[in-house]
Amino acid sequence: MADSKTYDIPKTCKAGVVVNEGPDFKLQVEDVPVPEPGPNDVLIRLNATGICYSDIHYMLNDLAVPAMSVFGVRSPGHEGAGIVVKIGSNVTNWKPGDRAGIKPAYDACLDCELCWTGKETYCDESPQIGLQFPGSYQQYLLSPARYTQRIPDGVDDFVAGPIMCSGSTIYCSLKESGLKPGDWAVFPGAGGGVGHMGVQLAKAMGMRVVGVDGGDEKRDLCMKLGCEAFVDFTKVKNVAEEVVKICDGKGAHGIFVTATGGSAYASAPLMARIGGKIMCVGLPPEGTAVAGGDPILLISKNLHVIGTKVGSLYDTTKALEFAAQGKLKPIYEVFPLAKMPEAVAKLQSGKVAGRLVVDFNS
Ligand SMILES: [Zn+2]
Ligand SMILES: [Zn+2]
Repeated sequence: MADSKTYDIPKTCKAGVVVNEGPDFKLQVEDVPVPEPGPNDVLIRLNATGICYSDIHYMLNDLAVPAMSVFGVRSPGHEGAGIVVKIGSNVTNWKPGDRAGIKPAYDACLDCELCWTGKETYCDESPQIGLQFPGSYQQYLLSPARYTQRIPDGVDDFVAGPIMCSGSTIYCSLKESGLKPGDWAVFPGAGGGVGHMGVQLAKAMGMRVVGVDGGDEKRDLCMKLGCEAFVDFTKVKNVAEEVVKICDGKGAHGIFVTATGGSAYASAPLMARIGGKIMCVGLPPEGTAVAGGDPILLISKNLHVIGTKVGSLYDTTKALEFAAQGKLKPIYEVFPLAKMPEAVAKLQSGKVAGRLVVDFNS
Protein backbone atom coordinates (compact mmCIF):
# COMPACT_ATOMS: atom_id res chain seq x y z
CA MET A 1 0.00 0.00 0.00
CA ALA A 2 1.27 3.46 -0.90
CA ASP A 3 2.17 5.81 1.93
CA SER A 4 -0.68 8.10 2.78
CA LYS A 5 -0.27 11.75 1.93
CA THR A 6 -0.73 14.68 4.25
CA TYR A 7 -2.69 17.74 3.28
CA ASP A 8 -2.78 21.28 4.56
CA ILE A 9 -6.29 21.84 5.75
CA PRO A 10 -7.57 25.41 5.90
CA LYS A 11 -9.71 26.73 8.76
CA THR A 12 -12.47 27.86 6.39
CA CYS A 13 -13.69 26.91 2.95
CA LYS A 14 -16.19 28.11 0.35
CA ALA A 15 -19.77 26.91 0.43
CA GLY A 16 -22.98 27.67 -1.43
CA VAL A 17 -25.50 28.42 1.32
CA VAL A 18 -29.24 29.01 1.17
CA VAL A 19 -30.61 32.34 2.36
CA ASN A 20 -34.33 32.91 2.98
CA GLU A 21 -35.23 29.21 2.58
CA GLY A 22 -38.69 28.89 0.97
CA PRO A 23 -40.37 30.05 -2.26
CA ASP A 24 -38.08 33.12 -2.60
CA PHE A 25 -34.82 31.48 -1.54
CA LYS A 26 -31.45 32.76 -2.67
CA LEU A 27 -28.14 30.92 -2.87
CA GLN A 28 -24.91 32.70 -2.06
CA VAL A 29 -21.28 31.66 -1.74
CA GLU A 30 -19.78 32.22 1.73
CA ASP A 31 -16.80 31.16 3.84
CA VAL A 32 -17.71 28.50 6.38
CA PRO A 33 -15.64 26.56 8.94
CA VAL A 34 -13.97 23.35 7.76
CA PRO A 35 -15.37 20.55 9.95
CA GLU A 36 -13.14 18.30 12.06
CA PRO A 37 -13.63 14.57 11.45
CA GLY A 38 -14.98 12.50 14.34
CA PRO A 39 -13.25 9.18 15.13
CA ASN A 40 -15.23 7.27 12.44
CA ASP A 41 -15.38 9.96 9.75
CA VAL A 42 -13.32 10.96 6.77
CA LEU A 43 -12.90 14.59 5.72
CA ILE A 44 -13.34 14.99 1.95
CA ARG A 45 -12.16 17.92 -0.16
CA LEU A 46 -14.43 18.14 -3.17
CA ASN A 47 -13.29 19.07 -6.63
CA ALA A 48 -16.77 19.04 -8.13
CA THR A 49 -20.45 18.90 -7.23
CA GLY A 50 -23.45 18.31 -9.44
CA ILE A 51 -26.56 20.43 -8.99
CA CYS A 52 -29.66 18.27 -8.57
CA TYR A 53 -33.29 19.36 -8.65
CA SER A 54 -33.72 17.85 -5.16
CA ASP A 55 -31.40 20.60 -3.89
CA ILE A 56 -33.87 23.13 -5.20
CA HIS A 57 -36.76 21.26 -3.56
CA TYR A 58 -34.90 21.40 -0.24
CA MET A 59 -34.20 25.13 -0.61
CA LEU A 60 -37.80 25.79 -1.68
CA ASN A 61 -38.94 23.56 1.17
CA ASP A 62 -41.76 22.14 -0.98
CA LEU A 63 -41.41 18.42 -0.19
CA ALA A 64 -43.08 16.53 2.64
CA VAL A 65 -39.86 16.51 4.68
CA PRO A 66 -38.68 18.89 7.42
CA ALA A 67 -36.79 21.98 6.23
CA MET A 68 -32.96 22.08 6.05
CA SER A 69 -32.96 24.74 8.78
CA VAL A 70 -34.59 22.25 11.20
CA PHE A 71 -31.29 20.34 11.04
CA GLY A 72 -29.16 23.48 11.10
CA VAL A 73 -28.02 22.80 7.52
CA ARG A 74 -27.41 25.66 5.06
CA SER A 75 -25.65 23.86 2.19
CA PRO A 76 -27.62 21.39 0.05
CA GLY A 77 -25.89 19.04 -2.41
CA HIS A 78 -25.33 15.29 -2.72
CA GLU A 79 -23.34 14.79 -5.93
CA GLY A 80 -19.79 15.48 -4.81
CA ALA A 81 -16.47 14.05 -5.94
CA GLY A 82 -13.01 14.68 -4.53
CA ILE A 83 -10.38 13.16 -2.27
CA VAL A 84 -10.05 12.20 1.37
CA VAL A 85 -7.73 14.72 3.07
CA LYS A 86 -7.97 13.58 6.70
CA ILE A 87 -9.26 10.51 8.55
CA GLY A 88 -10.68 10.00 12.05
CA SER A 89 -8.67 8.14 14.69
CA ASN A 90 -10.60 4.83 14.24
CA VAL A 91 -10.54 4.80 10.46
CA THR A 92 -8.47 2.03 8.88
CA ASN A 93 -10.14 1.47 5.48
CA TRP A 94 -9.39 4.91 4.01
CA LYS A 95 -6.26 7.00 3.70
CA PRO A 96 -5.62 10.60 2.71
CA GLY A 97 -5.39 10.83 -1.07
CA ASP A 98 -8.08 8.21 -1.77
CA ARG A 99 -10.79 9.35 -4.16
CA ALA A 100 -14.22 9.59 -2.58
CA GLY A 101 -17.74 10.64 -3.49
CA ILE A 102 -20.77 12.12 -1.75
CA LYS A 103 -24.11 10.54 -2.64
CA PRO A 104 -27.58 11.30 -1.22
CA ALA A 105 -27.65 8.67 1.56
CA TYR A 106 -25.23 9.81 4.28
CA ASP A 107 -25.03 6.62 6.33
CA ALA A 108 -26.95 3.48 7.33
CA CYS A 109 -26.96 1.23 10.41
CA LEU A 110 -25.56 -1.73 8.39
CA ASP A 111 -27.20 -3.94 11.03
CA CYS A 112 -30.80 -4.43 9.89
CA GLU A 113 -32.67 -6.50 7.32
CA LEU A 114 -32.78 -3.58 4.86
CA CYS A 115 -29.06 -2.96 5.14
CA TRP A 116 -28.27 -6.68 4.74
CA THR A 117 -30.31 -6.89 1.54
CA GLY A 118 -28.94 -3.88 -0.32
CA LYS A 119 -31.88 -1.66 0.60
CA GLU A 120 -29.94 0.43 3.08
CA THR A 121 -31.24 3.70 1.64
CA TYR A 122 -34.59 2.76 3.25
CA CYS A 123 -32.98 2.06 6.66
CA ASP A 124 -34.35 4.14 9.55
CA GLU A 125 -30.82 5.31 10.16
CA SER A 126 -30.18 6.53 6.62
CA PRO A 127 -30.23 10.33 6.74
CA GLN A 128 -29.91 12.52 3.65
CA ILE A 129 -26.80 14.60 3.12
CA GLY A 130 -27.60 18.12 1.98
CA LEU A 131 -30.72 18.06 4.14
CA GLN A 132 -29.86 16.54 7.52
CA PHE A 133 -26.08 17.03 7.15
CA PRO A 134 -24.16 19.76 5.30
CA GLY A 135 -24.07 18.84 1.63
CA SER A 136 -21.73 19.00 -1.32
CA TYR A 137 -22.22 22.71 -2.03
CA GLN A 138 -19.60 22.96 0.74
CA GLN A 139 -16.07 22.13 -0.39
CA TYR A 140 -14.82 20.32 2.73
CA LEU A 141 -17.25 17.95 4.33
CA LEU A 142 -17.53 14.87 6.49
CA SER A 143 -18.63 11.37 5.58
CA PRO A 144 -18.83 8.21 7.73
CA ALA A 145 -15.86 6.05 6.67
CA ARG A 146 -17.97 2.87 6.62
CA TYR A 147 -20.42 4.34 4.13
CA THR A 148 -18.28 6.52 1.89
CA GLN A 149 -18.39 5.91 -1.84
CA ARG A 150 -15.17 4.98 -3.65
CA ILE A 151 -14.56 6.36 -7.14
CA PRO A 152 -12.81 4.01 -9.59
CA ASP A 153 -9.92 4.95 -11.87
CA GLY A 154 -10.97 6.13 -15.27
CA VAL A 155 -13.91 8.19 -13.99
CA ASP A 156 -13.05 11.85 -13.48
CA ASP A 157 -14.68 13.98 -10.78
CA PHE A 158 -16.96 15.86 -13.18
CA VAL A 159 -18.33 12.56 -14.44
CA ALA A 160 -18.46 10.92 -10.99
CA GLY A 161 -20.38 13.82 -9.37
CA PRO A 162 -23.63 13.51 -11.31
CA ILE A 163 -23.51 9.71 -11.12
CA MET A 164 -23.64 9.89 -7.30
CA CYS A 165 -27.32 10.81 -7.46
CA SER A 166 -28.81 10.80 -10.95
CA GLY A 167 -26.81 7.90 -12.36
CA SER A 168 -27.16 5.61 -9.37
CA THR A 169 -30.85 6.47 -8.88
CA ILE A 170 -31.76 5.46 -12.41
CA TYR A 171 -29.48 2.39 -12.23
CA CYS A 172 -31.46 1.32 -9.15
CA SER A 173 -34.78 1.84 -10.95
CA LEU A 174 -33.62 -0.10 -14.04
CA LYS A 175 -32.42 -2.95 -11.83
CA GLU A 176 -35.68 -3.14 -9.88
CA SER A 177 -37.79 -2.98 -13.04
CA GLY A 178 -36.55 -6.43 -14.04
CA LEU A 179 -36.63 -5.39 -17.72
CA LYS A 180 -34.68 -7.65 -20.04
CA PRO A 181 -32.55 -7.05 -23.15
CA GLY A 182 -34.85 -6.33 -26.09
CA ASP A 183 -37.60 -4.87 -23.87
CA TRP A 184 -38.90 -1.38 -24.56
CA ALA A 185 -37.89 1.24 -21.96
CA VAL A 186 -39.51 4.67 -22.16
CA PHE A 187 -38.14 7.71 -20.37
CA PRO A 188 -40.49 10.66 -19.84
CA GLY A 189 -37.96 13.40 -19.01
CA ALA A 190 -35.31 11.66 -21.15
CA GLY A 191 -33.30 14.83 -21.77
CA GLY A 192 -32.98 15.78 -18.11
CA GLY A 193 -30.28 15.05 -15.53
CA VAL A 194 -31.59 11.63 -14.51
CA GLY A 195 -33.27 10.73 -17.80
CA HIS A 196 -30.24 11.15 -20.04
CA MET A 197 -28.28 8.72 -17.88
CA GLY A 198 -31.20 6.29 -17.88
CA VAL A 199 -31.21 6.33 -21.68
CA GLN A 200 -27.51 5.37 -21.77
CA LEU A 201 -27.74 2.69 -19.09
CA ALA A 202 -30.85 1.13 -20.63
CA LYS A 203 -29.13 1.07 -24.01
CA ALA A 204 -26.01 -0.48 -22.44
CA MET A 205 -28.22 -3.14 -20.82
CA GLY A 206 -29.64 -4.05 -24.25
CA MET A 207 -33.05 -2.43 -23.98
CA ARG A 208 -34.79 -0.54 -26.79
CA VAL A 209 -35.10 3.04 -25.65
CA VAL A 210 -37.70 5.72 -26.36
CA GLY A 211 -37.19 9.27 -25.09
CA VAL A 212 -40.06 11.61 -24.24
CA ASP A 213 -39.24 15.28 -23.67
CA GLY A 214 -39.74 18.71 -25.21
CA GLY A 215 -37.67 20.65 -27.74
CA ASP A 216 -35.05 20.00 -30.41
CA GLU A 217 -32.05 20.32 -28.09
CA LYS A 218 -33.38 17.46 -25.96
CA ARG A 219 -34.32 15.44 -29.04
CA ASP A 220 -30.77 15.72 -30.41
CA LEU A 221 -29.26 14.76 -27.07
CA CYS A 222 -31.55 11.75 -26.66
CA MET A 223 -30.96 10.42 -30.16
CA LYS A 224 -27.20 10.84 -29.74
CA LEU A 225 -27.27 8.92 -26.45
CA GLY A 226 -29.04 5.88 -27.82
CA CYS A 227 -32.78 6.46 -28.12
CA GLU A 228 -34.35 4.56 -30.99
CA ALA A 229 -37.21 7.07 -31.14
CA PHE A 230 -38.09 10.40 -29.53
CA VAL A 231 -41.54 11.81 -28.83
CA ASP A 232 -41.66 15.59 -28.45
CA PHE A 233 -44.54 16.52 -26.14
CA THR A 234 -44.51 20.06 -27.48
CA LYS A 235 -45.29 18.75 -30.97
CA VAL A 236 -47.19 15.48 -30.56
CA LYS A 237 -50.80 15.74 -29.41
CA ASN A 238 -51.24 12.29 -27.89
CA VAL A 239 -47.85 11.30 -26.47
CA ALA A 240 -48.98 7.98 -24.98
CA GLU A 241 -50.60 6.89 -28.24
CA GLU A 242 -47.39 7.69 -30.13
CA VAL A 243 -45.28 5.72 -27.64
CA VAL A 244 -47.55 2.70 -27.93
CA LYS A 245 -47.31 2.89 -31.71
CA ILE A 246 -43.49 2.92 -31.56
CA CYS A 247 -43.39 0.01 -29.11
CA ASP A 248 -44.80 -2.61 -31.51
CA GLY A 249 -48.29 -1.12 -31.16
CA LYS A 250 -48.47 -2.80 -27.73
CA GLY A 251 -46.81 -0.32 -25.41
CA ALA A 252 -43.63 -0.29 -23.37
CA HIS A 253 -42.37 -2.93 -20.95
CA GLY A 254 -41.19 -0.20 -18.60
CA ILE A 255 -41.89 3.51 -18.23
CA PHE A 256 -39.27 5.27 -16.14
CA VAL A 257 -40.85 8.53 -15.03
CA THR A 258 -37.93 10.84 -14.39
CA ALA A 259 -40.00 13.97 -15.10
CA THR A 260 -41.57 15.59 -12.06
CA GLY A 261 -44.82 16.84 -13.60
CA GLY A 262 -48.21 15.37 -12.78
CA SER A 263 -48.96 14.86 -16.48
CA ALA A 264 -45.92 12.59 -16.93
CA TYR A 265 -47.18 10.35 -14.12
CA ALA A 266 -50.76 10.49 -15.45
CA SER A 267 -49.85 9.33 -18.96
CA ALA A 268 -47.37 6.57 -17.93
CA PRO A 269 -50.01 3.79 -17.48
CA LEU A 270 -51.36 4.58 -20.95
CA MET A 271 -47.90 3.93 -22.45
CA ALA A 272 -47.56 0.50 -20.85
CA ARG A 273 -48.18 -2.85 -22.46
CA ILE A 274 -49.83 -5.74 -20.58
CA GLY A 275 -47.71 -6.47 -17.52
CA GLY A 276 -45.82 -3.20 -17.90
CA LYS A 277 -43.88 -1.56 -15.09
CA ILE A 278 -44.40 2.07 -14.14
CA MET A 279 -41.21 3.08 -12.40
CA CYS A 280 -41.54 6.19 -10.20
CA VAL A 281 -38.31 8.19 -9.97
CA GLY A 282 -38.99 11.94 -10.40
CA LEU A 283 -40.10 13.80 -7.26
CA PRO A 284 -43.14 16.01 -7.89
CA PRO A 285 -43.91 18.77 -5.38
CA GLU A 286 -46.18 17.43 -2.62
CA GLY A 287 -49.77 16.82 -3.73
CA THR A 288 -49.25 17.60 -7.43
CA ALA A 289 -49.16 14.10 -8.97
CA VAL A 290 -50.58 10.60 -8.61
CA ALA A 291 -48.83 7.47 -9.92
CA GLY A 292 -50.92 4.59 -11.23
CA GLY A 293 -54.49 5.15 -12.29
CA ASP A 294 -57.98 3.73 -12.31
CA PRO A 295 -57.86 0.26 -10.70
CA ILE A 296 -59.74 -1.16 -13.69
CA LEU A 297 -56.90 -0.02 -15.96
CA LEU A 298 -54.29 -1.50 -13.62
CA ILE A 299 -56.25 -4.76 -13.34
CA SER A 300 -57.02 -5.14 -17.03
CA LYS A 301 -53.40 -4.42 -18.03
CA ASN A 302 -51.70 -6.24 -15.12
CA LEU A 303 -49.72 -3.08 -14.40
CA HIS A 304 -47.05 -2.73 -11.74
CA VAL A 305 -46.37 0.62 -10.11
CA ILE A 306 -42.97 0.61 -8.39
CA GLY A 307 -41.17 3.41 -6.59
CA THR A 308 -37.42 3.39 -6.02
CA LYS A 309 -35.38 5.84 -4.01
CA VAL A 310 -31.79 6.95 -4.54
CA GLY A 311 -29.19 4.28 -5.30
CA SER A 312 -27.46 2.19 -2.65
CA LEU A 313 -23.69 1.86 -2.24
CA TYR A 314 -23.95 -1.13 -4.61
CA ASP A 315 -26.04 0.75 -7.19
CA THR A 316 -23.65 3.70 -7.20
CA THR A 317 -20.67 1.37 -7.59
CA LYS A 318 -22.33 -0.38 -10.55
CA ALA A 319 -23.25 2.94 -12.22
CA LEU A 320 -19.63 4.10 -11.80
CA GLU A 321 -18.47 0.86 -13.44
CA PHE A 322 -20.58 1.66 -16.50
CA ALA A 323 -18.89 5.08 -16.59
CA ALA A 324 -15.43 3.52 -16.28
CA GLN A 325 -16.27 1.35 -19.31
CA GLY A 326 -17.29 4.47 -21.25
CA LYS A 327 -20.93 3.34 -21.44
CA LEU A 328 -22.29 6.08 -19.19
CA LYS A 329 -21.20 9.63 -19.94
CA PRO A 330 -23.11 12.34 -18.11
CA ILE A 331 -23.55 15.40 -20.31
CA TYR A 332 -22.65 18.39 -18.20
CA GLU A 333 -21.87 22.05 -18.26
CA VAL A 334 -19.26 23.34 -15.80
CA PHE A 335 -19.78 26.47 -13.69
CA PRO A 336 -17.01 28.05 -11.62
CA LEU A 337 -17.67 28.17 -7.87
CA ALA A 338 -18.49 31.90 -7.91
CA LYS A 339 -21.30 31.19 -10.38
CA MET A 340 -22.96 28.47 -8.30
CA PRO A 341 -26.00 30.74 -7.71
CA GLU A 342 -26.41 31.11 -11.49
CA ALA A 343 -26.19 27.35 -11.96
CA VAL A 344 -28.97 26.85 -9.41
CA ALA A 345 -31.13 29.52 -11.08
CA LYS A 346 -30.59 27.92 -14.48
CA LEU A 347 -31.67 24.49 -13.26
CA GLN A 348 -34.68 26.01 -11.51
CA SER A 349 -35.76 27.56 -14.81
CA GLY A 350 -35.93 24.03 -16.30
CA LYS A 351 -33.75 24.92 -19.29
CA VAL A 352 -31.00 22.38 -18.72
CA ALA A 353 -30.21 19.48 -21.05
CA GLY A 354 -28.05 17.10 -19.01
CA ARG A 355 -26.43 18.23 -15.79
CA LEU A 356 -24.77 21.30 -14.27
CA VAL A 357 -21.55 20.72 -12.33
CA VAL A 358 -19.71 23.26 -10.20
CA ASP A 359 -15.89 23.30 -10.25
CA PHE A 360 -14.53 24.14 -6.76
CA ASN A 361 -11.08 24.86 -8.18
CA SER A 362 -12.01 27.59 -10.65
ZN1 LIG B 1 -30.19 14.25 -6.48
ZN1 LIG C 1 -30.09 -0.49 8.60
